[in-house]
Amino acid sequence: MVENKQEALDKVAQMVEECQRCPLYRTANKSVPGQGNPEAQVFFIGEAPGFNEDQKGIPFCGRAGKLLDQLLELAGLSREEVFIANMLRHRPPNNRDPEKEEIAACRPFLDRQVEVIDPKIIVTLGRFSMEKFLPGSMISQVHGQPRFADYGNKEYIIYPMYHPAASLRNGKIKALEEEDFVNLGKFLLKLNQAQDKEGQTADEVKAREKEQMKLI
Ligand code: URA
Repeated sequence: MVENKQEALDKVAQMVEECQRCPLYRTANKSVPGQGNPEAQVFFIGEAPGFNEDQKGIPFCGRAGKLLDQLLELAGLSREEVFIANMLRHRPPNNRDPEKEEIAACRPFLDRQVEVIDPKIIVTLGRFSMEKFLPGSMISQVHGQPRFADYGNKEYIIYPMYHPAASLRNGKIKALEEEDFVNLGKFLLKLNQAQDKEGQTADEVKAREKEQMKLI
């Protein structure tokens, strides 16, 4: 039976809403389960909800979110066609860094959303989500460079990016991030052109993606 993706994502959101797997639910106002298109080709993963997200229950809806919207536009994407989530689904007090235990407690929600959506590209925003897929990497060295990573019995293309909040603090990082998003758009276009070839099996398409990545 084909799974109804929206229903599956709604179930995750309900589980996040009821989650008491770590203490953050006690201090948070609203849970922020993630938002976007169940058929998204690109899945963005940030760090954790901040003040605005905690008020509204929507990821990236403050200043960093405004910048993310502009960056998406540079990639030829809109919020309506991507999916956006965070490593944590409840706001850490005073926006402190996520703790290991909190990331571990929240992990099943992200895993399930990625499984349901099955995106072509996972974009990590900042070091916490990058560490999940590309452990030990330094963002200054790998940003904007797509990699393959095994995740939940599948191989995904991981596109590590600076966190938009870092761009808000540093103009040089902003310029690099803008370039990375332009390149993300081009990369996605090339992937889709490769997949538009007729008669390819999923494995052939995957092999072709790898070939394409060597060329890009
Ligand atoms: N920063 C994040 O990492 N996520 C948000 O949702 C907002 C700001």
